[in-house]
Amino acid sequence: MDQLSPHFIIVGAGFSGAVLARSLVERLPCRITIVEERPHVAGNCHTERDAATGVMVHRYGPHIFNTSQAHVWEYVNRFGKFREWVNRVKAVTPRGVFSLPVNLHTINQFFGKTFNPAEARAFIASLGDKSIGEPRNFEEQALKMIGRELYETFFYGYTRKQWGCEPRELSASILKRLPVRFNYDDNYYNSRWQGIPEEGYSAIVAKILDHPAIDVKLGQRFDPGAPREGSHVFYTGPIDAFFAYRLGRLGYRTVTFERGEAEGDFQGNAVLNYSDAALPFTRIHEHRHFTPWEEHARTVYFKEYSKETEPGDVPYYPKRLDGDLALLREYRALAAREPGVSFLGRLATYRYMDMEKIIGEALAFGEKFAEAYAGKNALPVFPNEEN
Ligand code: UDP
Repeated sequence: MDQLSPHFIIVGAGFSGAVLARSLVERLPCRITIVEERPHVAGNCHTERDAATGVMVHRYGPHIFNTSQAHVWEYVNRFGKFREWVNRVKAVTPRGVFSLPVNLHTINQFFGKTFNPAEARAFIASLGDKSIGEPRNFEEQALKMIGRELYETFFYGYTRKQWGCEPRELSASILKRLPVRFNYDDNYYNSRWQGIPEEGYSAIVAKILDHPAIDVKLGQRFDPGAPREGSHVFYTGPIDAFFAYRLGRLGYRTVTFERGEAEGDFQGNAVLNYSDAALPFTRIHEHRHFTPWEEHARTVYFKEYSKETEPGDVPYYPKRLDGDLALLREYRALAAREPGVSFLGRLATYRYMDMEKIIGEALAFGEKFAEAYAGKNALPVFPNEEN
């Protein structure tokens, strides 16, 4: 590679930035500088060993890799070993502890029945609110699908705590993330592949970035107003921050964690959800259970609390209320007029995205950009259409 090769700047060393960087250097003669304001790579997927217990901790909350995209599964396995691991979540409610996602075991225990799959299906259908046509929001989706009692026990309180608003203000798509099953399968996901990286996510991302044409600068803040160094910038931070919030702030929920330590096994499972609105936290995660192949004498767990994001907080979940989506359209219009910048990833496109979606989209965007660049065509600004 020579000095005449284009020099691209990528802002953010999460999965979006890292996968895009790797994709570009493998497709185009170019060199890349990634600037990351945090002192580590992998964004909110960052993992590190807890100093006191030695447990591998998901610093920004639990991440369980799951995908049905074969090329994404192959891709992550190129950069580290994944151990098979299935997420089996339990819900702690005032009526007892139940299996999630709602499945035949949940239904039979909750209603004190011994239904078989067909009976349970008919029973749940009888509970669904038939006055609802196409559900317009989270609450309608739940009432139509499972009826009021299950909704109120498992979803209403949790969702109020998690999102800080009424479930009827939220998109139905949030609930559609979770399956309802009429068998005893208690796997939280429907994906074909699921696992946890043996050495954590940060090791995977570091490996993706381990390439002679990629230079990673940690602890360095990107200033969108400063003169640009590279010939193109790929921005994976919050889109409203790029424009110095000049039109207002997009709504996000953030989460905070209260750490606890104990001897042995604290709660017997990786994740317990607390659906009761009277309790202030949404869930407790105990990270030793993410690596059952490791031995540790002591255990570390985190109570997770959710709140509205204020300046300085880490943005986690995009709320996507009607006002947010209107503001997003305005920011996207500004972005489309910004020369030499592309916007990619969860924060720059303001969408609720899982890791596998991020990776798939970064790979596709890298390919599209490289083709356009090589063909001297118009360069893509966003990976997705407006939504
Ligand atoms: N949810 C709920 N009760 C639960 C689990 C999930 O009400 O016990 C709702 C909640 O609104 C949540 C959404 O379903 O935001 C999606 O859940 P998921 O587990 O996919 O959320 P994540 O793991 O991304 O936080």
